Amino acid sequence: RAGSVAVIGRPNVGKSTLVNALVGAKVSIVSNRPQTTRHRLLGIASFPEGQLLLVDTPGIHHEQKRAMNRIMNRAARGALEGVDAALLVVVAGRWDDEDTLAFDTLHEAGVPVVLVVNQVDRIKDKTQLLPYLQKVTEGRDFAGVVPLSALKRKGLEQLVSTVLPLL
Ligand code: GDP
Ligand code: MG
Repeated sequence: RAGSVAVIGRPNVGKSTLVNALVGAKVSIVSNRPQTTRHRLLGIASFPEGQLLLVDTPGIHHEQKRAMNRIMNRAARGALEGVDAALLVVVAGRWDDEDTLAFDTLHEAGVPVVLVVNQVDRIKDKTQLLPYLQKVTEGRDFAGVVPLSALKRKGLEQLVSTVLPLL
């Protein structure tokens, strides 16, 4: 299996750390040149079971308030063409309107969304995760939910085995 996987999330949630962890080496294929006119290739993560082409999707990011408008327009939706799945990366315990908007945009575009709950290493009492996961997933059709730590490289196998079948 192989496919394009968009990595989406607010600044500082750990997207780059996750991409580096999946790709396995910081020096591996990370390019500023577009893979297509729509996507920027962040890296290629290869496993015995398949390959993830990790891509950036301009317009789906939500760094600024005005992105709230951009995200709704056709151009932003066009950025999702050719994307087989998306990783919506959040920090464990946090969720806001921009995450809701990103999920809704992806879901409406028919892109399977895997929720990556990153930085779980910062939560000492893991039972605190349960109410958070319940709240965030209620009424949202995620293709998968994977708590992990990109920094500590914990939970990556679970993520890969969740994403590959979607491709
Ligand atoms: P990006 O802006 O989404 O690409 O986020 P970065 O990958 O640059 O990470 C932002 C900060 O969060 C950095 O200081 C990372 O070291 C830190 N970070 C990323 N993942 C984790 C994690 O799983 N646990 C902890 N504790 N910190 C993390
Ligand atoms: Mg980054």
